[in-house]
Amino acid sequence: MTAASLEVREVSVGYGPVRALNAVSVDVPEGAVVAVLGGNGAGKTTLLRAVSRTLRFHGGTIGSGSITFAGRRLDGLTPAEVVAAGVVQVPEGRQVFARMTVADNLRAGALGARGGRRAAAEARERVHELFPVLADRAHQRAGLLSGGEQQMLAMGRALMARPRLLLLDEPSLGLAPLMADRIAETVREINARGTSVLLVEQNAAIALRLASSAVVLEVGAVALAGPADELAASDEVRRRYLGIT
Ligand code: ATP
Repeated sequence: MTAASLEVREVSVGYGPVRALNAVSVDVPEGAVVAVLGGNGAGKTTLLRAVSRTLRFHGGTIGSGSITFAGRRLDGLTPAEVVAAGVVQVPEGRQVFARMTVADNLRAGALGARGGRRAAAEARERVHELFPVLADRAHQRAGLLSGGEQQMLAMGRALMARPRLLLLDEPSLGLAPLMADRIAETVREINARGTSVLLVEQNAAIALRLASSAVVLEVGAVALAGPADELAASDEVRRRYLGIT
């Protein structure tokens, strides 16, 4: 198979004795935005860590199941190899390098990425088009940016690696509604330019607007899955995740 689709099959994950995911399956077809919804501790971040192979930095291991991207098994690769394969995570809480400049944060994102210096220069140009503020603030320390700008930097840094699939963890968390909407618009734009997105969001309204399909995780298992418009219309999703009674 050559299409750049992600297939997570029956993946179970534990942090020592704590079972965080139980036989979870989710597909991200090439070019799609797929949302992962669920309450606190449902396993959303763990799912992204399993795909990006950063799980072990947090003491987690995959017990069973398989993760395939573009026909290639990711479980078994190092995190750097996953990036090189075109799958890049934007962590929850941005985690920009606060003492480094905006420009150096972006440069760090290109390390180990596909392509050479020319590819990195092109990627930076695209990032600056998407987020002009990152060009304006290139020489400022990242820690001085606002929360929304730091989210843009975290996304820009990930885009420097020219991902085919972006793993986005709670991009709207802690942002004012206007900024959250702006970030959502950029996710749409990134997707329109050809990058698939696996989007973890507590804000189900934003997530279901952006995604073509979604899964709902509850205590580490898939409770609901389907097209985003069907989930947005389901009574359970409306009551529990959209706050509509
Ligand atoms: P949140 O929205 O709160 O981030 P989440 O849906 O992303 O929640 P996870 O962070 O994936 O959920 O957590 C799933 C389960 O695994 C929870 O029970 C959590 O306490 C546990 N867990 C997460 N990280 C670790 C860790 N590093 N060590 C031990 N247990 C962990």
